Amino acid sequence: MSTARMQCTDRVVGAILASWRYDISGISPEMRRDYENHFAECARCRSRQKFHRSLDVALAVLTSLAALFFLFALAVLKHIRPLEHVAFNVFGLDVQDTYHMLISAGIAGLVFSVIALALVLMATSAPSYLSDIAQSRARLIEERLPAAIKSLRSR
Ligand SMILES: [Zn+2]
Repeated sequence: MSTARMQCTDRVVGAILASWRYDISGISPEMRRDYENHFAECARCRSRQKFHRSLDVALAVLTSLAALFFLFALAVLKHIRPLEHVAFNVFGLDVQDTYHMLISAGIAGLVFSVIALALVLMATSAPSYLSDIAQSRARLIEERLPAAIKSLRSR
């Protein structure tokens, strides 16, 4: 099942949505209604929207993982210090230089991945998408809560 074979029910709206990467979180609620209606009736745009939002989330996850990896690498380097005589003497490397090189590589990697994460969060709608999910979860819990309390009282 390819999304390319599906036809958009409204080419004009579809083109506008495509230029926004199917992200309507930035527009006013009144304007949003039309586009939400289009998502409701157009399977092609709906699947495109889903794809772009999961892409955003995947990018955010990957860049945060990269930042965590470099943090971890720096932590490992810190703990490896006592072992450096064993490790580095075998390879005949200059201990101080190698250590500093690895540390700066770790810091550079960390800085780079944090910047990349910031760019991803700014350029994509991952934050609003994730907060939307959190909000709807919270709403669901709130809706269930009174019922749960009611059932407790009736006992
Ligand atoms: Zn469409």
